[in-house]
Amino acid sequence: MTDRRTVLVLNCGSSSLKYAVVEPDSGRELADGIVERIGEGPIHDHEAALRAAFDRLSADGLDLGALGLAAVGHRVVHGGLELYRPTVVDDAVLATLRRLAPLAPLHNPPAILGIEVARRVLPDVPHVAVFDTAYFHDLPAAAATYAIPRDLAAQWRIRRYGFHGTSHQYVSEQAAAFLGAPLESLNQIVLHLGNGASASAIVGGRPQDTSMGLTPMEGLVMGTRSGDVDPGVVMYLHRTAGMSMSDIETMLNRQSGVLGLGGEIDFRLLHQRIDAGDPDAALAYEVYIHRLRKYIGAYLALLGTTDVITFTAGVGENDAAVRRDALTGLAPLGIELDEHLNESPARSPRRISFGTSPTTVLVIPTNEELAIARACAATVTGG
Ligand code: ADP
Repeated sequence: MTDRRTVLVLNCGSSSLKYAVVEPDSGRELADGIVERIGEGPIHDHEAALRAAFDRLSADGLDLGALGLAAVGHRVVHGGLELYRPTVVDDAVLATLRRLAPLAPLHNPPAILGIEVARRVLPDVPHVAVFDTAYFHDLPAAAATYAIPRDLAAQWRIRRYGFHGTSHQYVSEQAAAFLGAPLESLNQIVLHLGNGASASAIVGGRPQDTSMGLTPMEGLVMGTRSGDVDPGVVMYLHRTAGMSMSDIETMLNRQSGVLGLGGEIDFRLLHQRIDAGDPDAALAYEVYIHRLRKYIGAYLALLGTTDVITFTAGVGENDAAVRRDALTGLAPLGIELDEHLNESPARSPRRISFGTSPTTVLVIPTNEELAIARACAATVTGG
């Protein structure tokens, strides 16, 4: 039987293609996977990667033709000022995406490539772009504005856009559902800690601030990204150390963060190094936690009253030490973590604060694929 409510979600990076087949109504994920090392060996380009993904799906007994896809959802990192609603992609939208590419030179070009290839391979299905920036489109001006000359910012569309929006929105909605409270009634902090990491402060379902800015480089320390640095560092490296802008960009994006300080991206390996007495790994962890606590403190002050703090993504969901060290000693601010609950290896949404803690602390697995699939289904059915 044909089910028109199945969505193929694609997240296309420069060298990898993540895919998932999702039923937006039930939330069931029928399949997911990743094709890596695009450009090497048999997977010589993105079209070959998509065809490899289809081959794997049919090897698993999933025939996309027979499923009758309702849409293909594409995760696109940057939508600039003009693209923020989930958008059915046509040639005009693709042209706009190409024009926006300089805003996200590392992220948008592979997503555009993925859309082009997928439209070629699946020409009869609507393709919907879902933007990582969308949720933060209406950030208050005070949070969205850099204190640089206004004309210059307007001319070049420089503002704080924010990223991981799909995850911050999904997780904050799940937090409200978990608490059985209306989203509108809650002040929330969401900490999305994966390879990329960002924090958001949300009042009644509307984000008030987020840690990423014009690009996904601002804010928290990440797997390979520096997060906040004095822009003076960039000028100094360019002028005095003779590094090119593109070398500096690569350094800040790919060689910094916990990798640059501690030699590992993966927190499991970072902890192993710390346990083995490696001082660089220990410093990387301390810098990571220090930055995280500064953002939590800033958002507690911004919100005044915080009902719930939620950890999500690879590190946030799995690393009990990070959660403990981020919130330890904050009982005077109303945050009382239950060490025992925090150590639980459970994978479902759960509370990790004492029942009496004025601020509830939760761990909620993010599910960007499901959120994208739902946005796509709503877009193509006009729902
Ligand atoms: P991405 O940003 O690529 O989507 P994820 O949200 O999947 O990343 O997070 C990946 C990261 O999560 C890994 O690099 C690792 O640091 C961390 N991680 C995953 N599992 C664990 C675990 N069991 N303990 C600690 N950290 C973990």
